[in-house]
Amino acid sequence: MYIGRFAPSPTGPLHFGSLVAAVASFCEAKAHRGHWLVRMEDLDKPREIKGAADTILHQLEAFGFEWQGKVIYQSLRHDAYAEVLQQLKNKKLVYPCTCTRKEIADNSHQLGVDGVIYPQTCLKHPLKPHVTAAWRIKTNQAEISFNDAIQGNIRQMLSQQIGDFILKRADGLFAYQLAVVVDDAAQGITHIVRGADLLDSTPRQIYLQQMLSYNTQQYAHIPVANDVAGQKLSKQTLAEPIDTNDASVTLWKALHFLGQQPPDEIKNVILAEVWHWALTHWNLAYIPKLRARATE
Ligand code: GLU
Ligand code: ZN
Repeated sequence: MYIGRFAPSPTGPLHFGSLVAAVASFCEAKAHRGHWLVRMEDLDKPREIKGAADTILHQLEAFGFEWQGKVIYQSLRHDAYAEVLQQLKNKKLVYPCTCTRKEIADNSHQLGVDGVIYPQTCLKHPLKPHVTAAWRIKTNQAEISFNDAIQGNIRQMLSQQIGDFILKRADGLFAYQLAVVVDDAAQGITHIVRGADLLDSTPRQIYLQQMLSYNTQQYAHIPVANDVAGQKLSKQTLAEPIDTNDASVTLWKALHFLGQQPPDEIKNVILAEVWHWALTHWNLAYIPKLRARATE
């Protein structure tokens, strides 16, 4: 049984880049006669835009997406994440850290793929008293490799390229890396189709899966949509929200972006016909590894 998912963060309405991830994960699930679930990754309440989660669900509906079961909200899953962190504490795989960002920047001599490598200060020295600690996982000498259905073989040496990473922040928020692994396992996800901006995170997630004896999903990382200036489209760079009044043309563009070669004749037909074309012609193998621009 194939179970896929789309996991938006409600930091703003859907933009073209997030729509592309929804289309790809949906078509791939339907091509396998699988289920497609939606999970709202609203862990980071301070960064959330009020009402964005509802807006996203309405946009998905307007585009004709249908998902199985109830939408899961990560903001309601604190207990599940706490329990998993406790399991990792019991296995002595995690340790508390009271370093500030500045201390880490000053003491680290190594730049990794996602910022500086944490110099393990709190593993080697006493913690600061009366300070709430963050929790980090030891990466030891883990070398993670996996075969991505689009990007090919990926290999990462966690200790040298990432370092001991945070699972729970000092402000009490659980990190994306932990939440995504716990939820993908809890929801029985078998396949993950998402943006290549998360490719660097995947080895951390596989490492956590291994430490928790979870299954590892099959991954497919689609190219990230850039704007004309070559910037990644994101809510931070204020990518325009997708227009639900123009859904069939936007869906056509998303399919085109994903290398699916939808014919021009279906550009101005009703939405259901574009979906019909998409679901009868979908082929993951056509998706390019990289893509320069969102449209033509
Ligand atoms: N919530 C993440 C995002 O919007 C996606 C997480 C995932 O697909 O694993 O970028
Ligand atoms: Zn520390």
